[in-house]
Amino acid sequence: MTAVPPFTEEHEELRESLRSFIEREIRPHAPDWEAAEEFPRELFTRMGELGFLGLKYPEEYGGQGGDYVHDAVFTEEMARCGSGGVAAGIGAQVAIASPPIYKFGTEEQKQRWLVPAIRGEKIAALAITEPGAGSDVAGIRTFAKRDGHEYVVNGGKTFITNGVRADIYVTAVKTTQEGGHHGLSFLVLEKGMPGFEVTGKLEKLGWHASDTGELSFSDVRVPEENLLGEENKGFYLIMANFQWERISMALGAVGGMQATFERTLEYALERQAFGRQIGRFQAIRHKLAAMATKIEAARDLTSQCLRLFITGQDALKEVSMAKLYACRAAVEVADEAVQIHGGYGYMREYDVERALRDARLGPVGGGTGEIMKEIIGKQLGL
Ligand SMILES: Cc1cc2nc3c(=O)[nH]c(=O)nc-3n(C[C@H](O)[C@H](O)[C@H](O)COP(=O)(O)OP(=O)(O)OC[C@H]3O[C@@H](n4cnc5c(N)ncnc54)[C@H](O)[C@@H]3O)c2cc1C
Repeated sequence: MTAVPPFTEEHEELRESLRSFIEREIRPHAPDWEAAEEFPRELFTRMGELGFLGLKYPEEYGGQGGDYVHDAVFTEEMARCGSGGVAAGIGAQVAIASPPIYKFGTEEQKQRWLVPAIRGEKIAALAITEPGAGSDVAGIRTFAKRDGHEYVVNGGKTFITNGVRADIYVTAVKTTQEGGHHGLSFLVLEKGMPGFEVTGKLEKLGWHASDTGELSFSDVRVPEENLLGEENKGFYLIMANFQWERISMALGAVGGMQATFERTLEYALERQAFGRQIGRFQAIRHKLAAMATKIEAARDLTSQCLRLFITGQDALKEVSMAKLYACRAAVEVADEAVQIHGGYGYMREYDVERALRDARLGPVGGGTGEIMKEIIGKQLGL
């Protein structure tokens, strides 16, 4: 494969080894794991062993000493694994839950949580969303009250990826009664803390193999050593994390669309109707042409914001555009793929049925399409 910046030859080599690992060790099991609504915990340790959970982290923490582009390759390739749920569970660990520990954690916190997360020995989750506050992050109500050297946490979270079986939860709390973005902090809650309960495993349209949890905190006593970053400065952490989360979602959308497209093109050349391959009908040919164009546009937009992000430039508008466009395009491409597969497209046996259900999360999770448009609008001075 020829490397197109920001990807280098070395990134493309990683792509090849990831692709063959995924084809060998994940894809064949994906249908069973989706049906079981869980993938084995051992997949975390296996991927940790192979170094895939710490591509962008320094070697001193067990990482591979790579960069964000290595992680971009990882995210694109994981989207080809045949299960949005597996990609989401592993992706939550790599792209949203461990980065704040690396970026804002003390040395002691990194040794305690980041090192085992990179090894895949501890599962991590990022817990921000609450039943009453999703898009409106500043509206969270979970409260952490100081009591000596501890915080006493009350509240709850919902829709948390890895939420049922995680060991560590990077959790957004309010630490003052002030409204708006003030008084937000992050505490790392650990499974087993008295008063911390997983109250539900949520049933979903897609991402079946990932556990999406509902959490309740009732007088959970959290030592002050578990404060991540500065007290009352949690909004910076959220903002820092959102950019990479959104680029990751755009990358996953591109990888997923590409895989769906390849399968659909193959199908269109195989399936016969009225004495010819269905791909030779102009209507189907045009659908495939439009799908390929959307994927290319999404890939270019995503690569552009990746280039801006890795060179430290302000990419708020571009990241929001890439997330908005690529995640919506993934739904449209999967929908057309189902159409091209006809009745087979509606059957569980064919990947495109799952691809459509899985893709639908894109315009909702990690900042909705409407919120992306709000951000873009503000960047345009509106
Ligand atoms: C499968 C899954 C996994 C998830 N994983 C995690 C996770 O690991 N951690 C985590 O913290 N969260 C997670 N989430 C939560 C996700 O990020 C939120 O669902 C998302 O941010 C939307 O919030 P909400 O569901 O409260 O919707 P709401 O904010 O209630 O929005 C409802 C509708 O109103 C629209 N809307 C809201 N505000 C505006 C506005 N200002 N202008 C225009 N329209 C607006 C929205 O776009 C949407 O269409 C997950 C969600 C799902 C479904």
